[in-house]
Amino acid sequence: MRRLLVIAAVWICASCSPAQTQVADFAAQRERMVKEQIVMRGLVTERVLSALRKVPREEFVPAEYRAESYTDKALPIGYDQTISQPFIVAFMTEELQPQPTDRVLEVGTGSGYQAAILAELVAKVYTIEIIEPLAKNAEATLQRLGYKNVHVKFGDGYKGWPENAPFDSIIVTCAPERVPQPLLDQLKEGGRMIIPVGIKFAQELYLFEKKNGRLQQSAVLPVRFVPMIRSEKEDAN
Ligand code: SAH
Repeated sequence: MRRLLVIAAVWICASCSPAQTQVADFAAQRERMVKEQIVMRGLVTERVLSALRKVPREEFVPAEYRAESYTDKALPIGYDQTISQPFIVAFMTEELQPQPTDRVLEVGTGSGYQAAILAELVAKVYTIEIIEPLAKNAEATLQRLGYKNVHVKFGDGYKGWPENAPFDSIIVTCAPERVPQPLLDQLKEGGRMIIPVGIKFAQELYLFEKKNGRLQQSAVLPVRFVPMIRSEKEDAN
C-alpha cells in the first residue's frame, strides 16, 4: 500500500513540470493580491479588477524579485526605478475611469506593467520612458505577451506625445514638482489626468478633469513616486 502511494506521488509530480507549478502558483497569488490588497481596500470597478486578475505581473519583474511579484509593495526594476505597488496601479487606473474606446497616454513606462493593465481596458495606450534600456525592455515584454495596442516611445514624457494628442486620459507614474503644461494641453475636453506632484518623498496624487475648457483639480492620495527626470537643457521649461 505504502509503495503504491509513493508511486502515485511520483507519478503526480512527474505529470506537472516545475514551470507549470510556478504558473499555477502565480495565478493563485494574483487572485489573492486582488482580494486582499485591492478589493479589501475598497476598489470595486469590475473591469479594473479583471485586468489585474489577468495580467501576469511576474513577467514585468526582474528574475531576482520574481517570487515577490504579488507582494504589497513597489519592486526595483533597475536604473534606480521601480514597478509601482499593485494597489497604486489599481487606484490610478480606477481614477481614470477607462473606457473601451479611449486613447490613453502614460508618462513613465518603467516595466510596462501599468501599460499592460491599461491595454486590457482601452483601445490604445501610448507610453513614454526616458531611460532607453527600460523602454526597450518594456516594449519587448509587451510584445512577447501579445499586446498590440501599446506604443512605447523612448523620450522625455514632460512634453507629452503631440503627434497622437489629444488623449482621453493621461497617467503619469513619476513625480514632477509642477504639473507639465504640455500634458494639460494634450488632454481632451472631458478628459482625466492622474499625476503625482511634489518634491522627493512628499507628493500628492492629483486628479485633473477638463470640463468646458476649464481644469478642475483635486488631491486624492498622498504618495511616494520616483521623481520625473528631465532631458538636459529643458529643465528650465
Ligand atoms: N508605470 C511603471 C512604473 C514606473 S516608475 C510600471 O508600471 O512599471 C517611473 C518611471 O518613469 C521610471 O521608469 C522612470 O525612468 C520614468 N521617467 C522619469 N522621468 C521621466 C520622463 N521625463 N519621461 C518619461 N519617463 C520618465
